[in-house]
Amino acid sequence: MDMPRVVIVGAGFAGLETAFTLRRHLGDGVDLTLVTDRPDFVFKPGMVYVPFGGAEDDLRLPLETPADRRGIAVRHGGIAWVETDPKRIALADGDLLDYDYLVLATGAAMRPEAVPGLAEHAHLIGTIEQMRELARELKRLRDAAVDGSPQHVLFLVPPGNLCPGPLYELAFMLEQWLRRSRVRDRICVTFATHEATYLQAFGIGLDRPVGGEFAERGIVGCRSAAVTSVEPNLVRFADGTARVFDLLVATAPHGAGVDYEGLPCDRRGFLLTEPQTRRVRRTEAVYAPGDAGDFPVKLGFLSLLQADAVADDIAHRIDPDAVKAPSRFDPVGLYVMERFDDAVFTQVPLTLTGEPAHPAPDDAGADHLVGVSPIWRLGKKALGIALPQQFRAGRPFHGGLPGGAAALGLKGMSKALADAVKE
Ligand SMILES: Cc1cc2nc3c(=O)[nH]c(=O)nc-3n(C[C@H](O)[C@H](O)[C@H](O)COP(=O)(O)OP(=O)(O)OC[C@H]3O[C@@H](n4cnc5c(N)ncnc54)[C@H](O)[C@@H]3O)c2cc1C
Repeated sequence: MDMPRVVIVGAGFAGLETAFTLRRHLGDGVDLTLVTDRPDFVFKPGMVYVPFGGAEDDLRLPLETPADRRGIAVRHGGIAWVETDPKRIALADGDLLDYDYLVLATGAAMRPEAVPGLAEHAHLIGTIEQMRELARELKRLRDAAVDGSPQHVLFLVPPGNLCPGPLYELAFMLEQWLRRSRVRDRICVTFATHEATYLQAFGIGLDRPVGGEFAERGIVGCRSAAVTSVEPNLVRFADGTARVFDLLVATAPHGAGVDYEGLPCDRRGFLLTEPQTRRVRRTEAVYAPGDAGDFPVKLGFLSLLQADAVADDIAHRIDPDAVKAPSRFDPVGLYVMERFDDAVFTQVPLTLTGEPAHPAPDDAGADHLVGVSPIWRLGKKALGIALPQQFRAGRPFHGGLPGGAAALGLKGMSKALADAVKE
């Protein structure tokens, strides 16, 4: 009998977690091919350290070793198009690949061009190269301040951005870095976001602690500030106000990493999926875990949860005895925000409002946890070691011993170091 063929496109959180979980569930009973446009996995949560001198090499994980170890064929190059009948995809080099199940895990992309002037005048934070460039800018800024010239740094979250957390981290980390460099008093730091409350996707719970910390650390915070355009040294907002800057550090609106013609998607190109299985609607065997799909909050942790559900569903369909009760996607937002002197932890079940600009209801009840402690910094570092280690070994993050230990550790830490949010 022919072996079932699963083709996975994209080697990020979602693609690798799906591939390794399928191998764990089905052993040699499945033919796995990974299509990727880059030779490595990038651990993006660790990129926030790069502007402050953090090492880059640990963030890149070459794919050969784990793929060889798990018998996963790797095809380098992008995907060109998808067909569902017959079931096949074309690669950018013209080769065709047949599949029985297809996993599209090609992530999200920043679309700075959606805001006039943003690409030209802002430093974006989506790639390691951009973070390296930001490191140079921050040194320049610090040198200018040391030379006696006051500077203004503006952090900006534009409408349509679906992962603002790292920008908050960078603002807090910069504030501490400037303090340690003894130039904090010469640099004005402003954080402007289109969100009505800080980190709105996690509900109301982070608004007060973030706003309070902004005030305490002398960061000027502006909510409901929707950028309309960026000019040299000036950002204009929808309410007619404007803010000047010497350095603009920004995220950008998000769109799908790849536009898949012929598959159902929303207006930004994100694939429309069944909520629990992440199977692409109106298809029988195409899945979209992670940022490529239509879940409105983009996070690595959520990508892993979606990948687990996808792998379970496919494995169950291939061999119901291998996975008798497939897990379903039950969205929980989890984020640890580094601030150098401490870190903020949040965990919140994500029921959806159906409104992309305001995806989670404000009140998540007693299940919404927030904690602030220097010990959460260790939690972030531990996750940053455990996940790449698992992937390096060709193992999924969830399901194994380290994933289980991390989950247990988090549970213990959140019991001791986090409280339910009181609305
Ligand atoms: C600076 C920064 C910090 C972050 N910090 C955190 C954090 O602390 N916690 C957290 O949970 N999340 C964090 N995130 C978000 C998290 O990194 C993403 O949500 C996560 O990477 C999404 O995983 P994914 O597998 O869906 O997509 P991605 O990780 O984007 O992977 C997509 C993959 O598809 C590949 N690909 C794209 N196009 C093609 C193509 N045409 N053909 C073949 N392959 C293709 C890409 O090269 C990539 O390997 C952060 C993001 C950034 C930018």
